[in-house]
Amino acid sequence: MDDALPVPPLISGQYSFFFDVDGTLAELQPRPEMVTLPAGRKRLLARLQAASHDAMALISGRSLEDLDTLTAPLRFALGGVHGAERRDINGLISAVTLPAGLTDPLRQQLQAVCLRFPGTRLEEKGIAFALHYRGVTLSETALIQAVEQLIRPYPELALQPGKCVVEIRPAGVSKGMALARFLEEAPFRGRPPLFMGDDMTDESAFDEVNLRGGLSIKVGEGETLARYRLSGVTEVYHWLEQVVNRLEAAATGASVRGVSHGPFSRCL
Ligand SMILES: [Mg+2]
Repeated sequence: MDDALPVPPLISGQYSFFFDVDGTLAELQPRPEMVTLPAGRKRLLARLQAASHDAMALISGRSLEDLDTLTAPLRFALGGVHGAERRDINGLISAVTLPAGLTDPLRQQLQAVCLRFPGTRLEEKGIAFALHYRGVTLSETALIQAVEQLIRPYPELALQPGKCVVEIRPAGVSKGMALARFLEEAPFRGRPPLFMGDDMTDESAFDEVNLRGGLSIKVGEGETLARYRLSGVTEVYHWLEQVVNRLEAAATGASVRGVSHGPFSRCL
């Protein structure tokens, strides 16, 4: 582990910006539905979206619908459920779905696991499940083993541990893959990527960004593949504000030359 990772440099070039949400753009809360994005933070994200000419996407464990609700009235390109679903810059949605007939028995088996670990809570995300245990005293190892045992007969499923959550999602998808897909498309294509995240599920995206010579930024403590670190959500916005100011200053000249914003740009 390298806790001495540097703070990322203040950039002013045309990057593709990718962000995890919970623990990165918004402070973690006891329950995911308690997480909010204050208007001031939304305004800064809207400014970044405009200043980057829409080369900005959120890649989260949340569903697309959930991400839209959290960030309303903004509208971003999105990677949801750890990359299992994606909405591109034009609003086209693609998703890896679970095999028909798997969801009902899986739900029942996970509900049985919840009963064995009092206080845990099952969230259904359509194409994935999340077992939350924030604030619950239990053996994390025992819970993960129980879920591992449960999904062993299903090669279509993968287990994704996170901060006080164990998720069961479709196998063969990752945040890194979602990020790579975005980079094949305009306006992301050809720009070095930047990704910020705080949790284990973000490591695949850090790996992808490192391979492409971009900026990988870990938020908070912990072992990571990322090359830079910001200590928390407040520091993320402090850094972003300085970067947005630089991009806007650079764009002042560009707008004179007729650069226009893309379909998702919006002022708050
Ligand atoms: Mg996170």
